[in-house]
Amino acid sequence: MTTHDPHRLDPHRPDPHRPVPPRPRAPRPSPARRPVPTRLAVLALVAVGVLASAAAAAPSLLALVPGAAATTSASLLGTLEVLEGSDDARLRETHIDPFDDTHPAIAGLHPDLRAAVQAVARDAHDRGVDLWVTSGLRTAAMQQDLLDDAVRKHGSLAEARRFVATPEGSSHVTGDAVDIGPTDGADWVVRHGAEYGLCQTYANEMWHFELATEPGGECPEQLPDAG
Ligand SMILES: [Zn+2]
Repeated sequence: MTTHDPHRLDPHRPDPHRPVPPRPRAPRPSPARRPVPTRLAVLALVAVGVLASAAAAAPSLLALVPGAAATTSASLLGTLEVLEGSDDARLRETHIDPFDDTHPAIAGLHPDLRAAVQAVARDAHDRGVDLWVTSGLRTAAMQQDLLDDAVRKHGSLAEARRFVATPEGSSHVTGDAVDIGPTDGADWVVRHGAEYGLCQTYANEMWHFELATEPGGECPEQLPDAG
């Protein structure tokens, strides 16, 4: 039988001479990220709802203060831009881990495309070729920016359209296209992508892939360019 000094040996009793260690913080559950368009749509609906209810509740108040209504919508739109901005900045990144399902550029891809890109990235890696996504999902605004940049660079909309699609025509905006880098990685997908259904769809963009055939099928003839 052992002697038990409850004041010294009780493991539950804090030793008054020992500093109390900081309590470990419970890990914060990370909420599942929704694809960007859904989140933006929700934000837009919320903003519209707030604007509508504000206008309905206090039309006379707004009328008393010149410019009040405009100020309200401007600040709400500013908030929207900030909220959108955080994802927007991530969407514009050019070195994106294809396995990062929480990244908006990857999360927003069509699930079949995302699975194909991850499968090809895994197999390429197993054969010593590393690849990443240089552009996945884009917002329409982002696509328009790219087109505007291309117009400045190439001098005309017609010429720019050969390299950059319009927001309405871009398969990146619908989550149906990925750009792959670096050149070695893109080249690997050019040669092996069809096994996964991935095809280079434009002859002048050896980095741009879409699901355009059945896995193991034959890719359709490439279009000359995005125009
Ligand atoms: Zn592309």
